[in-house]
Amino acid sequence: MTTLDADLAVLGLGAAGSSTLWRCATRGADVIGFEQHTPGHPHGSSHGHSRLFRTALVEGPQYVALAQHALRLWRELEQTDGTELLSLCGGIFLGPADGRLLPPILETIEAHDLPHERLTTAQIRSAYPQHTIEDATVGIRDPGTGVLRSEAGIRAAVRAAVGLGARVRTGERILAVQPGDRGVEVRSTGPEGERTWRFGRVIMATGAWTAGLLPGLSIPMQVRRTLLTWFGAPDAEQFGPGSFGVFLHEADGYLAWGAPALEGYGVKVGLHDLPAPAVADPGRNPLEVDPAEWAEVAAWVSRRLPTLDSADVRAEGCMYTHTPDEAFSIGIPRAYPGVVLAAACSGHGFKHATAVGDVAAALAVDDEPPVDLTPFSPDRFG
Ligand SMILES: Cc1cc2nc3c(=O)[nH]c(=O)nc-3n(C[C@H](O)[C@H](O)[C@H](O)COP(=O)(O)OP(=O)(O)OC[C@H]3O[C@@H](n4cnc5c(N)ncnc54)[C@H](O)[C@@H]3O)c2cc1C
Repeated sequence: MTTLDADLAVLGLGAAGSSTLWRCATRGADVIGFEQHTPGHPHGSSHGHSRLFRTALVEGPQYVALAQHALRLWRELEQTDGTELLSLCGGIFLGPADGRLLPPILETIEAHDLPHERLTTAQIRSAYPQHTIEDATVGIRDPGTGVLRSEAGIRAAVRAAVGLGARVRTGERILAVQPGDRGVEVRSTGPEGERTWRFGRVIMATGAWTAGLLPGLSIPMQVRRTLLTWFGAPDAEQFGPGSFGVFLHEADGYLAWGAPALEGYGVKVGLHDLPAPAVADPGRNPLEVDPAEWAEVAAWVSRRLPTLDSADVRAEGCMYTHTPDEAFSIGIPRAYPGVVLAAACSGHGFKHATAVGDVAAALAVDDEPPVDLTPFSPDRFG
């Protein structure tokens, strides 16, 4: 019988992988995590200081159990690490009552009886004067939304895993993953050269790189370039977590999202559906941004958040990994027995990362996952 290097390997230690490593370690598993860079690096989909946390999800009621489980685990990770990772500062969702933002959010709120407050146009103008809104714009105030510190969260999860006995290989790039009759063979290259490993099971948390490593997956994944953009706030008080909070705003044909000025960063504003070029090689998506790329975001900011300085911009390149239905892929794909896929993609995965890590770890050790994974089956397209 061939000996295993470890029972489990987690490939990729970004948002999903760092939490998966931690949750495998909390289950007492013998696990090694692999990362081509170092945890918290800026070359994947999780850098740029912060991500929005929301429970009243525009993405649909099927994500609420995942978000609630994730919230409990973010709090557990904060306790373990002694750092503040999630600030639930609350937020406002703005748009026409019959648009594409507010109706699905209200459906989620009603399906799960989530706390919220409806605001009229006049109430929004009085409570959130930073936003320029149309006369037909109404609002939903959500006390359960906030900001997660993304790189800090990844590093905290890796620290927690190592504290429980997990091993970590950084600067180690996975070249191939080959499931066999007795476990999964993994080929890597790192500081000590090329090496072949054997594990009982492998959890794939390689984000934008996943389709390249597992070409037989039946779920299409398309990687697109997107931007992180921060704008200067001349009146910082007006745009802090308490006064401004998190926002989503459907206006001018876009779903815009934003986070308050926090810890030396300006106000983060993004346009979710900004046309985005395909990324052929995720390893070559530049961090640097040409000003022409953020011009549309700056124009939106000057119309809708006019007291921000739309010429004072900090920008970084990032990546979304899209599936056709914008839903996650979590489970054991038919084409790769022995492999658990932990792909929290399509631009809304960070908030769920601790829960995705927990369910992936449960699948890897044959525990019952604590959340229903049917909507996220990696084989739902055939
Ligand atoms: C601009 C932007 C804004 C977003 N806003 C939000 C938000 O507000 N709220 C929210 O919840 N989500 C948001 N998201 C989505 C969220 O950030 C992503 O869904 C999430 O970070 C993806 O995590 P991941 O673990 O799948 O990928 P990553 O964090 O990129 O992790 C993949 C890891 O695998 C490693 N890896 C890949 N290939 C190999 C290999 N061959 N060998 C070794 N290591 C490898 C990579 O180096 C990387 O560290 C946003 C995304 C972007 C781009």
